[in-house]
Parts: sequence; structure tokens; C-alpha cells
Amino acid sequence: MKTDIEIAQEATLKHISEITAGLNLTEEDWEPYGHTKAKLSDNLLTKLKEKPNGKIVLVTSINPTPAGEGKSTVTVGLGQALNKIGKKAVIALREPSLGPVMGMKGGAAGGGYSQVLPMGDINLHFTGDLHAITSANNALAALIDNHIHRGNDLNIDPRRIEWKRVMDMNDRALRQIVVGLGGPLRGVPREDGFTITVASEIMAILCLATSLDDLKERISQIVIGYTYEEEPITVKDLKVEGALTLLLKDAMKPNLVQTTENTPAIIHGGPFANIAHGCNSIMATKTAAKLGDFVVTEAGFGADLGAEKFLDIKSRAGKFETDAVVIVATVRALKMHGGVDKDKLTVENVDALKSGMENLKKHIETIEQFGLPFVVAINKFPTDTEAETNFIESWCESRNIEVALTEVWAKGGEGGVALAEKVLEKTEQADRNFQYMYELEESLETKIRKVAQRVYGADDIELSSKAKKQIAFYQQQGWGELPVCMAKTQYSLSDDPSLLGRPSGFTITIRELRASVGAGFIVVLTGDMMTMPGLPKKPAALNMDVTQDGKIVGLF
Ligand code: ADP
Repeated sequence: MKTDIEIAQEATLKHISEITAGLNLTEEDWEPYGHTKAKLSDNLLTKLKEKPNGKIVLVTSINPTPAGEGKSTVTVGLGQALNKIGKKAVIALREPSLGPVMGMKGGAAGGGYSQVLPMGDINLHFTGDLHAITSANNALAALIDNHIHRGNDLNIDPRRIEWKRVMDMNDRALRQIVVGLGGPLRGVPREDGFTITVASEIMAILCLATSLDDLKERISQIVIGYTYEEEPITVKDLKVEGALTLLLKDAMKPNLVQTTENTPAIIHGGPFANIAHGCNSIMATKTAAKLGDFVVTEAGFGADLGAEKFLDIKSRAGKFETDAVVIVATVRALKMHGGVDKDKLTVENVDALKSGMENLKKHIETIEQFGLPFVVAINKFPTDTEAETNFIESWCESRNIEVALTEVWAKGGEGGVALAEKVLEKTEQADRNFQYMYELEESLETKIRKVAQRVYGADDIELSSKAKKQIAFYQQQGWGELPVCMAKTQYSLSDDPSLLGRPSGFTITIRELRASVGAGFIVVLTGDMMTMPGLPKKPAALNMDVTQDGKIVGLF
């Protein structure tokens, strides 16, 4: 079997000008970044304002296993399949972070014959967006420390600074540090720490902003910490929103690439899916909707996190409608939810599959609560047996649930035609009745409870005394009407990663909240949430190399 990078290297890429021509773009609409990448103008949305929007299809999944369930692969494959049946589809995906690339095996550019290319560039430095976000984030950190060093006019309490430095790497040694050591010429000592770039609030802001002005406005509202009197200090107080926006002016432009079958793909922004909302940028999704009749996009983790935030946070901020949802399930993840050990997933086990279906059932109910039409996609792995895939198909069919066996990893767009046809039918369905999971006017506590009970199936929530105090404080600050961004384990519907399947009788413990006022949401932490991951014992970096002629080796 060929590896992803081998398949990617064999694909014939078109010059990016051919892709832009296919999208009817003129010279002013885009700028080339090499031969196979381009940045799209951030004015494109304004220019195409009057053009009707294409239909938006969201790809989500059941609770994933540690390997990922192939959401990106299915997203790319479905986009290719729609083009195969004569529809003009554009794909919108997130940008990978270097941390996971060097750490775990598994990129974020799809897989097999459904990849976005050039996957080497996309997984490494791409067009420099993550560098720009890192720079803007760290410029702010430096400006804060400089402000304190220069006399601290704003009376910032160095113990209450929440703004962290970032880098785009898994580096556990930097989680907690002390800065400013070495005497008066080297600043004021204080505890600090690094998070990974994709966890920066600036990444979330870039992904939710709808224009450069909106980006600047959101940046100005970032709360960097508090005074000795516990009054919030914002970027606006420091007067640096202009400089930070300047650093991001090119990063704000969506990136255009193509898939293994030359389908256009916009890859832009990649916020964490726990402490942020885990979706590509609103600019990317909305631009894709102007350029294609269909947009296929994805959200991180399972439907309990990614889809909920896509619908409650992103589509609300972007004021767009979602037309249909694809719920990706795999035989191996369902078996794991049915109690099978990770190392026995390749052995046929229909009984385990049967009990694991409870997990899929809950996510189906969630999408039904949102009132959206959906199709279940079985992402077929080479180890799945016919008895297993037949079982899932008949389980769905007996409940009148549309299901499609999807072989886009092995066959590219051709393997996704059945899915594409069913999705098409769903997007034409008139009886859509979309509803948010909660209303913004509800109290923070009610919003959290609604997500916990309706999406996770929890009995109730339990707030720590810290969380209770924070809720009261946030409401008093006028932040009570922001949506909630839940940070929960992706592996379970509950807040305990070991409870697979469809747990019941549990409460969700709310440990702490964080105000991402610039991004426009309140982060709700349900457990210890790592914002600077570490590298595993055998990092993927050990397999990587480059030859004398610049050929990439071992990148997935
Ligand atoms: P997710 O978006 O859910 O994290 P990805 O689409 O990135 O998942 O896929 C994760 C990994 O699994 C990739 O390396 C991809 O090549 C592999 N993969 C996805 N689908 C299949 C499949 N049907 N068969 C074999 N490998 C697959």
C-alpha cells in the first residue's frame, strides 16, 4: 500500500492559474504563492456580494479514536465526488499545525486518493499564516512586558496576566516558565508560559473575523489580564490593535490549493477544537460559498464538539446557513465504542459494532435537534469486513437514515459518488428547521447546561466554586451574552475519556472559564485542558527526511 506522501508525489498538479481560471477569478482576485498555491483577495467577498451563496455541507463525525476517523479525507473525497457528478464544489479545510505534524503520525490534509496538495507544503510552512499569527501573538506579549517595564501606567497586575507566548510546536518544556529574570535592565520577573500557536486567541479571532476592520475590532477587545483592582485590561488599552492587525493582513487572505483530482480547496485557519471552536475561517467558508455551488467543510473532533461549535459559534458569527451534514463513522471506531481494545480493531466483531452504534445514534440525535438534514458516511478502511459494513448499512436503513459506504480514501472521488448523490438530495430538501442549541440571551449557566444535557446527554452540570465566581464576574462585565466554547475530551460524550459508547447518568464538571472576548466566546473548561501538547515517545519526526534534490521522505 502506498503512503499518503507517495500518492501525493504521484499526483499531477495543475498550475494554480488553471484552478483560479476554473473559478472565473480575474488577476486582481488572487496572488500566486509559487506554482500551486495562491492567496485569495480579502476583497473577493465584497466583490461577489450579490452572487448567491453555494450550499454549505458540514462534515462531522462520531467520537473519534486517537487515530482520527477520516473527516478530512471524507471532506476532500466528497468535494471530488460532487465534481465527478457535474457539480461545482469547493472544499474548505483547516491549516495543519507543525506540533501534531512532528508529533503524531497523521497530517491534516486528507489521506489516500483524497488529499489536498501540495501536502508537503500544507503540512510544513504553507503560506506563512501560522508564522504571522505567532508573530502577532508574541508582539502583544512583548508589548505587555515592555509596558510593565516602562512604569506600568495601566497598573497591570503581573500575576494576573493571562496572555501567553506561543510557538507552533509541541514543546512541553515551555508550559510554565519565569520571564524577566536578570535585574532591572531585563524586565519585571513574572510567571509565564507558552501555548501552541493554534491555541492563541488570535487564531480564533482570525477564523471568526469577517473583514480586516472586524479583525482589528476583535483584536482591540482581547482581554490580556487584569489590574491590581481586577479590572480587565484590553489590547485597546495598550493601543496596539493597529500593529497586530498589520502583522495579520496577509494571513487574513484565504489560501487556495487543489486536491489529488484538481478540485479547488481553500485552506485557511486552524484553531484548537477544545479551547477554541476548531473550524476553518469564516472568510474561507464564505469565499468558497461564493466560488462554488457547493462547499464541503469540516469541523474538528466529533459532532459533540466540532459540529456544535460550527453551528452555535461559527455559523452564528458568519451569519450563514448550513444546508446539510455528513456524519462520518468508521467500523473500527464504532467497535472501540463497543468495547474492543485498540489492538484488536482489525478483527471482525459485529457484536461489538452493534453496541458501539449507540455512539453514532447520539450524534444523529444531536444533528436532528439542530434541525438539519444529514447522511451517515461509512469511511471504509481496508480492514473492514463486508459483514461489518453491511451491519451499519442495515442498521441505518431500518431506521430510515440515509447512509453511504464511502471509499474515497482508496478510490478518490469515484468512491464517494453514492455519498455525493445522497448529500445532493438532502441539500434540496425544503423542510429544514435549523435551531441553535441555545439562545445568546440565556445565562452562561443555562447555555452550558443545554449543551451538556442536549448534546452530551448529561444529567446535569456541576460548577466548581471558581466557575461560579467567574460566571458572576463575566456577566457583570457584560460578557454574559457571548456563546460558550466547550473544552471537553474528544474521545467521550462525557468529560471522562474512558467512557466510550453512549454513557449515561453522568454530570459534567465545569472547572473553570476563560473569557476570549476578542474571539467572542467564553471558553468552558471541563477538565485539565492542555494548550501546549508534548511530543510522544516516538515522534513522527523520526521518520522524516529530505533528499539532496529536495524530495520529502516519510511525511505520513
Ligand atoms: P480526521 O480528519 O478525522 O482527523 P483524517 O482524514 O486526517 O482524519 O485521517 C487520519 C488518517 O487516517 C490519515 O492518515 C488518513 O490517510 C487515514 N485514513 C482516513 N481514512 C482512511 C481509510 N478509509 N482507510 C485507511 N486510512 C484512512
